Amino acid sequence: MLRDRPNAVPSAYRGVSVNEVDLPLEEEHLREYFVGKEAWRRTRFLVVRDRAGRTALLTAEKESEEPLFSPIVAVELVAGPDECAYVVAPDADTAVPSELARVAVERAPGSRAVVVQGMYEHISFIVNPAPLRLVVQEVVPPEPAKLYDQVRRLLAVAEDLPPMLPEAEVVSFAELSGRAGPAERYLLPCRGAGVEVPGAVTAYLDERPPHEDWTLLGCHRSAEIHEWFYGSAAPRVEMCPRERPHDGRTAVLAKCCLLEAENARDGGRVVVPWGATLEQVRSALEELAERWDPTWRPV
Ligand SMILES: [Zn+2]
Repeated sequence: MLRDRPNAVPSAYRGVSVNEVDLPLEEEHLREYFVGKEAWRRTRFLVVRDRAGRTALLTAEKESEEPLFSPIVAVELVAGPDECAYVVAPDADTAVPSELARVAVERAPGSRAVVVQGMYEHISFIVNPAPLRLVVQEVVPPEPAKLYDQVRRLLAVAEDLPPMLPEAEVVSFAELSGRAGPAERYLLPCRGAGVEVPGAVTAYLDERPPHEDWTLLGCHRSAEIHEWFYGSAAPRVEMCPRERPHDGRTAVLAKCCLLEAENARDGGRVVVPWGATLEQVRSALEELAERWDPTWRPV
């Protein structure tokens, strides 16, 4: 039953018909009102709003799907006005499951069904929003962390992925320097991201500066480059997100300096190369969806 299905999202918003009525939003009144009425052959769901702005969601069964219009023969209440929210979110593409889930979680937590009026005024819904929590392990700055931002951008247009909600798990260079203990000089992988450590002298490995006694806040790859440049190892604090613990009970996306071309799978975690393309991140999201939510389909 749709009413009990988690993350239920229609396969196409053209199946959603919006109706304004002047009657109590109770199943028997709605049944009496809709059964026998003609509906377009694509219509499968009815969003019903009353004059007070309350909303109910129903499924509709038609006599036939052949002719352009056909009489409704049965309706079933998915969510009544006490459990159905209506949210206007002009920035959300309602054809995208993760966007429906994001709006539901941010704007109508606790609602069984959330109808979203989004971009282009298109209207769709999600029932029992329970998006897959996706932890993105990253380093800042830059802010927002690049991989997390790539994930957000991709999920905002991912029409075919299950609802996913990313959450950044970040460590800053300032925290890493705290782990190193007090040092006067730090060597950081690159100047590009605007990384500085307050109260300390910072040098950047990508500029190949003259050697000093410093502590390297970097990854394996930075350590290899240090050896190559200076013929010696420096004290180092691990920066690579892949080295961080993860409990195996959550979908996790991380990046690793040692990967140069291919994504890697690591239990329930997928690791992309440092500097991954959107294409690589997209394929990591597909893998994570397949691993963590293999049975999800639109309704
Ligand atoms: Zn690494």
